[in-house]
Amino acid sequence: MKALIIGAGIGGVAAAAALKQQGIECEIFEAVKEVRPAGAAISIWSNGVKCMNHLGMGDIMDRLGGPMHYMAYKDGLSNSLMTQFSLSPLVEAVGERPCPVSRTDLQSQMIDWWGRQNIHFGKRLDSLEQTESGVIAYFTDGSCAEGDFVVAADGTHSKARKHVLGYEVERRYADYVNWNGLVDVDEEIAPHNQWTMFVGEGKRVSIMPIANKRFYFFFDVPLPLGLAEDRTTVKQDLKRYFNGWTAPVQKLIDAIDPQTTNRIEIHDIEPFDQLVNGKIALLGDSAHSTTPDIGQGGCSALEDAVVLGQCFAKTTDIETALKEYEALRRFRVKDLVLKARKRCDVTHGKNMTETQAWYDELKEESGEGIINGLKNTILGGPLA
Ligand code: FAD
Repeated sequence: MKALIIGAGIGGVAAAAALKQQGIECEIFEAVKEVRPAGAAISIWSNGVKCMNHLGMGDIMDRLGGPMHYMAYKDGLSNSLMTQFSLSPLVEAVGERPCPVSRTDLQSQMIDWWGRQNIHFGKRLDSLEQTESGVIAYFTDGSCAEGDFVVAADGTHSKARKHVLGYEVERRYADYVNWNGLVDVDEEIAPHNQWTMFVGEGKRVSIMPIANKRFYFFFDVPLPLGLAEDRTTVKQDLKRYFNGWTAPVQKLIDAIDPQTTNRIEIHDIEPFDQLVNGKIALLGDSAHSTTPDIGQGGCSALEDAVVLGQCFAKTTDIETALKEYEALRRFRVKDLVLKARKRCDVTHGKNMTETQAWYDELKEESGEGIINGLKNTILGGPLA
């Protein structure tokens, strides 16, 4: 049995790993010649780390995971501590640690794990055709490939999605812009072993430790779409949006390298129920695009892959396996997208009264409420 995997992102490589465990031959086709992920880093929460372990890539997490042992919220304007707590109770409750990792390193090490030479780079999917015996993938360079089924992990702008849904979907702007990048660890900005967040005015500054003494930072600001801002204006833009914010935030802005800082207008897609059509399955962002507000987009792509493998462990009938995959995943991924959207609105001041109530709650937070929320999300995964 042979699967065609479209996309060599987190989802595509994980899907190939899961299917290979079931003895299924996989060919991966990736549009670009060199994969350049959109963000600087990514937090793989415990559910995602469990999936990486299950798929045989746990050592990548061991190498790249940063020492994130504590979590704290601070008032961005006054620098006063709102709450601070250990993440050990979370790790004990769910049985695995979270791993914030450099995204380029993660992507690159996943590709190396699979075998760079075994991926067809520069093959951009144009369309798919289902036949009696399988599926044909047509690429924009005029070539094609045949397989028994297709796993389309071609991301949020998926070309394959319309072959499953029968229509195109619109992405929904989440009303905020995210700047992200990496800087060297600096204790004057934040402790080296803590996920620190500064909040205020519906804005957020997040600092997470990754391996090799680096911080993954991001800034979120509620803004309209399409502003004329780019790398050349990043420092002055951030200085303006965070004018009056506390010294560690100013120090972080001073430390960033505009050339390696990304500016992303955050979107998601209204969840849909159909993830499979016959012998074509969507996986990862092609199936469910979320705002990054609960850090679960990549984790859920890893979960999809694990479940896909589990379905093929039970049957070799392709359409039965894919239908089961859809049945097992659709509610989970819808739930994560909607949870992230809700969190996004509160964090980014969609209704400032609610956001202010959240700031007030943070000042009373012992850590238990936040850990319970994280625990519920993590334990909803397939390897709970
Ligand atoms: P992608 O990573 O988008 O990969 C798709 C691949 O398909 C790409 O390599 C692309 O080149 C290729 N491709 C596209 N079109 C074609 C085509 N036509 N033919 C062939 N190949 C094609 N998730 C978390 O779990 N934790 C986080 O902390 C987190 N933070 C985030 C922060 C930001 C700012 C953003 C934007 C996202 C974040 N996410 C996070 C979400 C996460 O990045 C995505 O969910 C994840 O990358 C999805 O993986 P994927 O493989 O499905 O898609």
